[in-house]
Amino acid sequence: MSRLYNRVAFIGLGLIASSMAHAIRRAGLADSLTGTARSAQTRATADEIGLVNLVCDTAAEAVCGADLVVLCVPVGAMEAVAREIAPHLAPGATVTDVGSVKQAVIAAVGPHLPDTVHFIPGHPLAGTEHSGPRSGFAELFDNRWCILTPLEGAEADALHRLTQFWQGLGANVDLMDAAHHDLVLAVTSHTPHLIAYTMVGVADDLRRVTDSEVIKYSAAGFRDFTRIAASDPTMWRDVFLTNKDATLEILGRFTEELFVLQRAIRQGDGDLLHDYFSRTRAIRRGIVEAGQDTDAPDFGRAKTRAAQ
Ligand code: NAP
Repeated sequence: MSRLYNRVAFIGLGLIASSMAHAIRRAGLADSLTGTARSAQTRATADEIGLVNLVCDTAAEAVCGADLVVLCVPVGAMEAVAREIAPHLAPGATVTDVGSVKQAVIAAVGPHLPDTVHFIPGHPLAGTEHSGPRSGFAELFDNRWCILTPLEGAEADALHRLTQFWQGLGANVDLMDAAHHDLVLAVTSHTPHLIAYTMVGVADDLRRVTDSEVIKYSAAGFRDFTRIAASDPTMWRDVFLTNKDATLEILGRFTEELFVLQRAIRQGDGDLLHDYFSRTRAIRRGIVEAGQDTDAPDFGRAKTRAAQ
């Protein structure tokens, strides 16, 4: 894949931005990279590891001359960033973001941007529980999906170029309406995270099981919840504050299902439980067949340990 942009500017230099920077270099998608972060410490780290060609003190400086600007801050910080960069954007530039919620970002960012730029919201469905400029790696987006939620009237050329860009980063690209994106993600990501947070909170509260037992026997299932529940608190707070309606809808359905299973357990309804678990197993099989996870036992952990 050849160069698609001259200069890409990152606002926020965490997991997603740093992974994008590595993947851009891997594929030679841009001539130069600039970036900024809120704290001097993050900017110094980015500088030290050579994450981008130029680390700037302000977002306004970082976007100067950039033909692609990627907003990589928590969803709740998008509006302030949009306000700050708006007067400094180069005419014809594309502004995109990687926020986990799309309607709220569109409402927060859209009104501040000048008509001379193309605003194409996006969300790569890839991540880890780690944060910061050192946590990124070039393979993060390989064979993962990136959803773009272009607004009505988005310019075809700009959209095509951004699509090619994400493909160059290794991702598959889908276009979606922002409201639908938020509902889909409430099912596949946001509610599962809330459930993981809850389960880990329950274990923490339950005084009949000691902390050391929880940790010692965590491989029985709890461990996988803890990985999700270790995700960045700021990012996830903002997700639930901004994708409120869809998350509440899915949570409502979740609690109904939970009561169905609770009743089946109380009544000893083994058939219901067996049918239910057979259906969920088929969903897991579908995810593996779609190449979105490994079929290796224990999510491939045993293999990783053996290789070390
Ligand atoms: P991260 O590693 O925590 O990095 C966040 C970056 O944003 C940091 O550079 C931080 O600067 C900066 N920042 C935080 N608050 C800010 C503020 N109020 N004003 C300006 N800059 C601020 O986060 P990330 O995982 O890359 O997530 C970034 C975005 O990607 C979020 O919108 C998230 O929803 C989305 N996303 C995340 C994942 C995931 O799994 N992590 C997946 C897909 C999409 P400092 O370091 O100086 O604080």
